[in-house]
Amino acid sequence: MIFLDNIYIAILGLVLGSFFNVVGMRVVAGQSIITPPSHCTSCGRRLTIRDLVPVFSWLFLKGRCRTCGAKLSPLYPIIEAATGLLFLFSFLHATSIAEILDGWLLVSLLMIVTVTDIEAMVVPNKIILFFFILSIVFRIIFPTAPWWDAALGAGTGFSLLFLIAILSNGGMGGGDVKLFAVLGLLVGFKLVLIGFFFATFYGALLGGLARLFGKVKKRQPVPFVPFITLGMLTAFFFGDWLFRAYLSLFS
Ligand SMILES: [Zn+2]
Repeated sequence: MIFLDNIYIAILGLVLGSFFNVVGMRVVAGQSIITPPSHCTSCGRRLTIRDLVPVFSWLFLKGRCRTCGAKLSPLYPIIEAATGLLFLFSFLHATSIAEILDGWLLVSLLMIVTVTDIEAMVVPNKIILFFFILSIVFRIIFPTAPWWDAALGAGTGFSLLFLIAILSNGGMGGGDVKLFAVLGLLVGFKLVLIGFFFATFYGALLGGLARLFGKVKKRQPVPFVPFITLGMLTAFFFGDWLFRAYLSLFS
């Protein structure tokens, strides 16, 4: 049965990933996430079930609309596949229901804001507010850590990014600052610090490489949320282990 559970959860993740694409794209475009039904943004043709199978439709159609041939962003199947894998990984990695749900909340938030940041370089307030409320409700129902840990995590996330926003003189947006507050609420004080460390590490490393190979121009702004996503996922899944390994260097 456990094998079937894994398949159901991966499918749930794939389908939600597809929904997160829609949410991200439509929120930045100022559209409703419910109506109209999914359609090609180029020719307007309404998509049928054949076009909407996560990952496989994109691969089968070779990333183009069936009718007009317009290119479909590779971000769609990437977000779908990532959500499917991360939902499954959260489930396999967790030791309690609370931890599974914490992982799923974290992955959901990160996937949506990755889409909005790559598409439009924004982290929408609507999304932040929605997950802020959801995270508080989650923490009340599942008080796995003392309440002050969530509060301290949120405060730390906010303050760190706020400081960087000031120091970087606009290089870091207000959306990133608010996002980190919600992330702190979800993962607590220790993991938000580790997540911050890895986000800046990945940003410096991958951003530096992209510049080196001329993929981004010198003053061109780069979306930071994908690095936040990588950093927070590293912290959430491997943070405790990495922290212990780090401490053992000194003992
Ligand atoms: Zn089309």
